[in-house]
Amino acid sequence: MSFEPFTLSDLNAASQTRFVDMLDGTYEHSPWIAEAAWAQRPFRSLAHLKRALVEVLEQAGREAQLALIRAHPELAGKAMVAKSLTAESTNEQGKAGLTDCSPEEFEKLQRLNADYNAKFGWPFILAVRGPRGAGLDRRQIIEAFERRLANHPDFELAECVRNIHRIAEIRLNDKFGHTPKLGNLVWDWAEALAEFSEQPDALTVTYLTRPHRACAQRLAEWMREGCGFDEVSIDAVGNVVGVYHGSDPGSKRLLTGSHYDTVRNGGKYDGRLGILVPMAVVRQLHRSGRRLPFGIEVVGFSEEEGQRYKATFLGSGALIGQFDMAWLDQVDAQGVSLRQAMQDAGLRIEDIPGLKRDPARYLGFVEVHIEQGPVLDALNLPLGVVTSINGSVRLM
Ligand SMILES: [Zn+2]
Repeated sequence: MSFEPFTLSDLNAASQTRFVDMLDGTYEHSPWIAEAAWAQRPFRSLAHLKRALVEVLEQAGREAQLALIRAHPELAGKAMVAKSLTAESTNEQGKAGLTDCSPEEFEKLQRLNADYNAKFGWPFILAVRGPRGAGLDRRQIIEAFERRLANHPDFELAECVRNIHRIAEIRLNDKFGHTPKLGNLVWDWAEALAEFSEQPDALTVTYLTRPHRACAQRLAEWMREGCGFDEVSIDAVGNVVGVYHGSDPGSKRLLTGSHYDTVRNGGKYDGRLGILVPMAVVRQLHRSGRRLPFGIEVVGFSEEEGQRYKATFLGSGALIGQFDMAWLDQVDAQGVSLRQAMQDAGLRIEDIPGLKRDPARYLGFVEVHIEQGPVLDALNLPLGVVTSINGSVRLM
């Protein structure tokens, strides 16, 4: 069956009836969500539409959310066996392989369904197509089920709603023929970079260790070969620096970037996201042959976390002329001095003072970073712009 994806302009021009029809099945048995979102047209993007739908459900309150959750079938439940699921659910449960459960898996899922229902009073909701839309496997599904059984009911209710929105997002992407290609690219880069670690079972990358230097090499390679930066280098403190000139190569630059070192057992996105996102932006500009009226300078900062030496922010510090030469005598847990580590890595200490940037040549500095607090999470927002920031000083 061939299928022509919807376009946003079709949707924006649609009558309320047609609009609800187009979004049919996005939220299980709940056309009222699309009905209410219709008034918010025109939508500027698919993301805008998704946000509007999220807001409708948020404003509808707890009872309406519970009713929506209860409109969902159990995972691998009676409705699946009786083949009475909606087309969307059949597709998703089938893709996750739930229709091919072994008798043991099937029995386990039935028991989990019963325990979950007894504890929370609603069915377990999981976006079984997973974060990339390709489908979780049965083991991942059972693990998520077992883990979430331990949640507090309020938290679990919110978790179900988040999964419902994720399910809706995947269904909308299907309807509109949308694949988040650049997001997937950034994701793949983050995964590939996370293969370098000092610990086998956890992600740990500290200053100038072998995995740290491998990360720098890989970032420089991607910038040079995959993204089309004009200049790529690794500087005297190990920062990876990529420059994409503006239409006039002498024009001011926007400085952006973040750190690629990690805390012990850190996450794959802390710091790295702020390097990879502008890399994807430059790649896109380069591929479409575009130059902006200003240059973009992306810095993968070599050090922020102060894990190996107590010289925190030495990567960004060097750019503002605050690299303290006294740091060079610090030693790590193995007794290796910072000076020695830098020399072993082939870094030229005498070049550090020359890394200081002249602020007059820059438009400013922006950084993309994951949220490490509860604000966006509580607001159910995927993205925010920071309007103020705090600095901290520690005294002993
Ligand atoms: Zn960070």
